[in-house]
Parts: sequence; structure tokens; C-alpha cells
Amino acid sequence: MTATEQDEYADIRDAVAKLCAQFPGEYWRKLDRQMVYPSEFVDALTKAGYLSVLIPEEYGGAGLKLSAAAAILEEIQRAGCNGGGCHAQMYTMGTLLRHGNAEQKQRYLPRIARGELRLQAFAVTEPNAGSETTRIQTMAVRKGDRYVVNGQKVFISRVQQSDLMLLLARTTPYDELTDKTRGLSVFIVELGSAEGHLDVRPIDLMINHHSNELFFDDLEIPAENLIGEEGMGFRYIIDGWNAERILIAAEAIGDGRWFVDRAVSYASGREVFGRPIGANQGVQFPIAQAYGNLEAADLVRYQAASKFDRNERCGAEANLAKLLASQASWEAANACLNAHGGYGFAAEYDVERKYRETRLLSIAPVNNNLVLAYLGQHVLGLPRSY
Ligand SMILES: Cc1cc2nc3c(=O)[nH]c(=O)nc-3n(C[C@H](O)[C@H](O)[C@H](O)COP(=O)(O)OP(=O)(O)OC[C@H]3O[C@@H](n4cnc5c(N)ncnc54)[C@H](O)[C@@H]3O)c2cc1C
Repeated sequence: MTATEQDEYADIRDAVAKLCAQFPGEYWRKLDRQMVYPSEFVDALTKAGYLSVLIPEEYGGAGLKLSAAAAILEEIQRAGCNGGGCHAQMYTMGTLLRHGNAEQKQRYLPRIARGELRLQAFAVTEPNAGSETTRIQTMAVRKGDRYVVNGQKVFISRVQQSDLMLLLARTTPYDELTDKTRGLSVFIVELGSAEGHLDVRPIDLMINHHSNELFFDDLEIPAENLIGEEGMGFRYIIDGWNAERILIAAEAIGDGRWFVDRAVSYASGREVFGRPIGANQGVQFPIAQAYGNLEAADLVRYQAASKFDRNERCGAEANLAKLLASQASWEAANACLNAHGGYGFAAEYDVERKYRETRLLSIAPVNNNLVLAYLGQHVLGLPRSY
């Protein structure tokens, strides 16, 4: 029995797998060639209620635990689909749930749950700050009952496919802070009213992911759209990191299992030198190793998710799960590509597409170097590099 089979979400997993079966490789290949957003797939997930599982029942969601969201994302990836078009709704939901006020939740959550509003964009990264989030420069200045935003972001995904975007902006100049983790704030931006003040420029990427450069020019946000307390935004972002890392780990494990399934199937059927290539240890062992790595990463993912769902501290497990799962999926991707030989490069096998897609999980939304720094500095107590 694999770690995955031990969870309580067998029914959800089956239902997600059935939905995903309606979106085969051919669907994704066509979109990938033209870099088109998977609207039909996201609509189907929304209609089935999977993207609102984390929204409490009182606001029209399913009120399920993070483990359920993780199981859904894992199954999407395992089926060969790509949750990258919609996973942010799960990644970012916690910021609104934990730190939004009652009025904000009432205003947005029921409509998100009904699929009328999409909260798919979260704008943090900036060209001059990169991983050092406390150095962001986009400024939100309070003027009466509004904030006026000026600045620039980069790699902000799904802006054109969202109605709402969470924005992290500076509300106190860096030089005026004694505590450098203060001075940032989170806002809900209603993108429909941003026209003329927000220039969105798509970035040509290696995968079909819809990321953009953003240029804010006197964008006005009503003060009531500030989430939580002014100046506490970095703390709110950190609060979401464990959930995000657990969800990424689940997606990586789903990808990894897809690679292993495909590698096993291909290596069992393809005959060269008069026997299936999978009989050769040079082909078989990397696949077996990838399987082992995935199972180990999955156990850590389960431990992290269970602790998270019990409201226990889980920073060490969440970071470790993200690290191990993204490494395991990448290793599985390589084993799968190698097993396919030249055919691994042929788009019709979907291996090259998934190979490109899974590579992202080591880099974004957080780079594995920063995960290692967390483990080194916060878990092992090594000297800090930043
Ligand atoms: C497809 C895609 C989608 C994205 N979507 C979003 C989004 O929707 N919203 C958003 O806000 N951001 C998004 N990002 C941005 C992503 O989160 C950043 O790329 C990531 O956080 C790293 O920032 P950077 O690219 O500026 O790298 P840098 O911070 O410049 O880092 C470059 C390299 O140096 C390493 N490095 C830096 N400092 C250290 C250190 N102290 N120790 C060790 N190594 C270090 C990094 O680990 C990395 O390998 C997306 C990125 C991609 C590629």
C-alpha cells in the first residue's frame, strides 16, 4: 500500500481522476503549443467545487482540510493534467481566510465558491527583490479612504484569468523601519477596476503558465480592501508558506507518479535487442529508485499535512516535503525521459511537456535553495546567510 492509499480521500481522488480523464494529453498538447489557458479544465474543476474545498461551509465551500486540497492537486498532476492554471486559489486562500475580516469574507468567499469570482493571482515577486521579499519596492500610499499604488512586479501568474488579485506592497519605506519584516501590507485588488492603472505584459515562458510583468501607475485600492493590519503583510505571507509547500509537494508527487506509471508502461512494452527495455537494469533501476524517492517524500508530505490539519507546528516537515517531493518528481521525470529514448522528445508522448512543467516546482513559488536555508538555519540551527 502506498502512502497515498492510506488517506481518507479515496472518493475525491476517484472523482478528480474521472474529471481529468475528460482532458487527455491531446487537450494539453494543443494548449501547450499555442500557450493557451486551460479554461474548460478550470471551469470543470470550479463547477465540481474542487477549487473551493478550503472555503468554509458557511461561505458556500466544502470546508475541507488542507489534506483534501493536496489530494485533489496530486490527482490532477497524476492524471497528466496541469493544475498550474488554478492552484493559486488553494495556495492563497489561507491569507483571506486567516487574516481577512468578516465583511471581506462575506463579500468575496461565497462568490468565489460559486465560481463567479476567480482568485487566481498573487503578486509578490519584484525584479529588484527576487527571493528577498522584505526588499520589495512597490509602494501603496494611503490617501484618505484609498491607497494609491505605484511600482512593478514580475512573474505574476494568471492575472488575465483572475477577477481578484492579492497584492503585497510596501506601506512604510524600508529605511524608516526598525523591524525590516514590517512595513508591508496585503490588499485585495479587484482587477476589473484596475484598467488604465495596471499594465499587464505577458512573459514568454518555457511552459504554458501565463505569467506577467505588472506596472502599477497610480492604481487606487479602497482602504477597506486592506487585509488585516497595515504593515503586517509579510507575517501574513509567511503564515501561508507551510500550506503552500505542502500543496507543491502534493503536486510534485502527482507528477512523479505520472512519470513512473508512464516509464513502467513504456519500458515493459518497448522491445530492443529481443527483450523489453525495462528488463535492463540501466532502465529499470532508475525507475525503481524514482518510485522509492516518491514514496519517501509522500510519507513526509503526509506527516506535514496531518500536523498542519491538527494546527501543529509543521515548518520543518512542510519544507522537507517540498524539497524531497520536487527532487523526486524531477528524478522521476529524468528516468521517464531516459526510458523513452528519442520518443521522450516527441510531443505526442506528453513526457517532454510534463518534464518542462515539473521542473518549475523546484524553482517556484519558492526556490529549493531557500527551502534548504530554512532547514539549515531554522531546523539545524546553522549560521544564517540572510
Ligand atoms: C512560471 C513562474 C510563475 C511564477 N508565478 C508567480 C506568481 O504568481 N506570483 C509571484 O509573486 N511570483 C511568481 N513567480 C516568481 C517566483 O516565486 C520567483 O521566481 C522565485 O521566488 C525566485 O525569485 P527570483 O526569480 O527573483 O530569483 P532570485 O531571488 O534572483 O534567485 C536566483 C537564484 O539565486 C538563489 N538564491 C538567492 N538568494 C539566495 C541565498 N541567500 N542562498 C542561496 N541561494 C540563493 C535562488 O535560490 C535562485 O536559485 C513565478 C515564477 C515562475 C518561474
